[in-house]
Amino acid sequence: MVSSLEVSARHGNARPSRQEAARCNVDVCRLPACLCASDAAPGGVRRDQLPQIVTFTFDDAVNAEMFGYYERMFPPNRTNPNGCPVSATFFVSHQWTDYSLVKRLYLAGHEIASHSVSHRMPQTWWRNATYSDLRRELNGQRHQLTRVAAVPPGELRGLRVPFLEVAGNQQFKVVGLINDTSLHLSIYIFDIFYK
Ligand SMILES: [Zn+2]
Repeated sequence: MVSSLEVSARHGNARPSRQEAARCNVDVCRLPACLCASDAAPGGVRRDQLPQIVTFTFDDAVNAEMFGYYERMFPPNRTNPNGCPVSATFFVSHQWTDYSLVKRLYLAGHEIASHSVSHRMPQTWWRNATYSDLRRELNGQRHQLTRVAAVPPGELRGLRVPFLEVAGNQQFKVVGLINDTSLHLSIYIFDIFYK
């Protein structure tokens, strides 16, 4: 089961805050560009034929305190049944992060994503954050990951807001990020432009 929500880049700035999403029309919203929310497997694959998919994600600072655990979890010789390497997504915040270790994770094949600059308190600040707040925090951290850890900008596609506090539509307007895992639902990835 995948808990990510994919926001199509083409819808990035389309809606003002608090405007209700349109109902999803399966005749219009079609793969690969669009998928309506559903607990049915994409592509009509039968449940008993679905492969098990496990997603590894980690939040917050990447530093020497945790790095040994990551190395033990993901040794180069540990692979998926199809022979592909096992990898994870690291949602990295700035404070206490050692960017040289972020670079090593990226070069080892893991996905690197933004988890804000400050990871500030209180938790409710994130719920009420404005577009410019979120842009400064989430894209600001994306910039740090590019500038200091040398992760190519095109490889930074994801975000996770601290404490999973969702800030409404302005969160989805943050430029250039297309994959948001701040919301967790027990259904497949779908196009959040529709309900
Ligand atoms: Zn966090």
